[in-house]
Amino acid sequence: VDKPDPILRASGVRRSFGGLTAVNVQNLEVQRGTITSLIGPNGAGKSTLFNLLTGFDRVDAGRWEFRGKKLNGMGGHRVARQGMVRTFQLTKALTRMTVLDNMLLAAQGQSGERFLGSFLPFAWQRQERENRERAMELLRRFNLEAMHGEIAGSLSGGQRKLLEMARALMVEPSMVMLDEPMAGVNPALVQSLLGHITSLRDEGMTVLFVEHDMDVIMGISDWIVVLAQGEVIAEGRPEDVRSNSAVIDAYLGA
Ligand code: ADP
Ligand code: MG
Repeated sequence: VDKPDPILRASGVRRSFGGLTAVNVQNLEVQRGTITSLIGPNGAGKSTLFNLLTGFDRVDAGRWEFRGKKLNGMGGHRVARQGMVRTFQLTKALTRMTVLDNMLLAAQGQSGERFLGSFLPFAWQRQERENRERAMELLRRFNLEAMHGEIAGSLSGGQRKLLEMARALMVEPSMVMLDEPMAGVNPALVQSLLGHITSLRDEGMTVLFVEHDMDVIMGISDWIVVLAQGEVIAEGRPEDVRSNSAVIDAYLGA
C-alpha cells in the first residue's frame, strides 16, 4: 500500500436495475499483493460490483483493466483465464461429485485443455497428472486431503467454503476474489479461513475480499474500500476507515 502498484484499476463503473442505481463507482484500485476488502451494508452494491468486474454481469458504463489488460466486455471464463478468479458456491451438481473431481473440473472449466487434449492425448495425460498433483496438494493445504474421495455434499459448511477456495486456486490465479466467504460458517472456523486468506497474500497473491461485517475483515485487511448505495464513500487503512464518520453513518443507517 505504500507505493501504488495497482493490479486492478476500474473507472466509471455503473449498473442500474430499472430505476435503481446499484453501482456507480468512479474509481477503484486494488494494489498488487494486498488483501483489499470491499465492505458496506447489505444492498450497498458489493455483489453487483463483484459480478461486473468478474464478467458475470454487464455494465451500463465503465472500464477496468487487470495487469494492464482491458477486461470490460470479457465474459467470466475469459476473465478467469487472465488470472483473476472468483469463488463459486458449490452447485447441486457439484455436491454430487467427489471432492477431487470438483478440483479437477475447476482446472478444466477455465481453460481449453480438454479440447487440446483430444488432439494430443499424450500432452493431455501429462496435464491430467499435473492437475491431480496440484489438486491433492491444495486439498492437503486446506485439510481436505482425507476427504478427497468423499462426495462434496457430505462436507460440513466450513469444509465447503475451504473447497470453494481450493477450487479457485486450481488455475494458479494472481488475484482471487471472495464474496462473503464466511457466510454461514461456524465462528470456530472463521479464524482458520482468515488464516488461509492471509497466507495467500503472504505468498504474493492479491485478494479482494467482499464482506458486510466490518469486524471480520478489520484484522486482516491492508486496505478497505467502503461502498454505500453503490458509491465509494471512503477508503483507507482499517483503523482510519473504522473511525470515519461517513462510514459509521452508512452502517448505522442500514
Ligand atoms: P450487496 O452485495 O452489497 O448486499 P447487491 O449488489 O446484492 O448488494 O445489491 C445492490 C442493490 O441492487 C440492491 O438494492 C439489490 O436489491 C439490487 N439488485 C441486485 N441485483 C439485482 C437484480 N438482478 N435485479 C434487480 N435488482 C438487483
Ligand atoms: Mg452481496
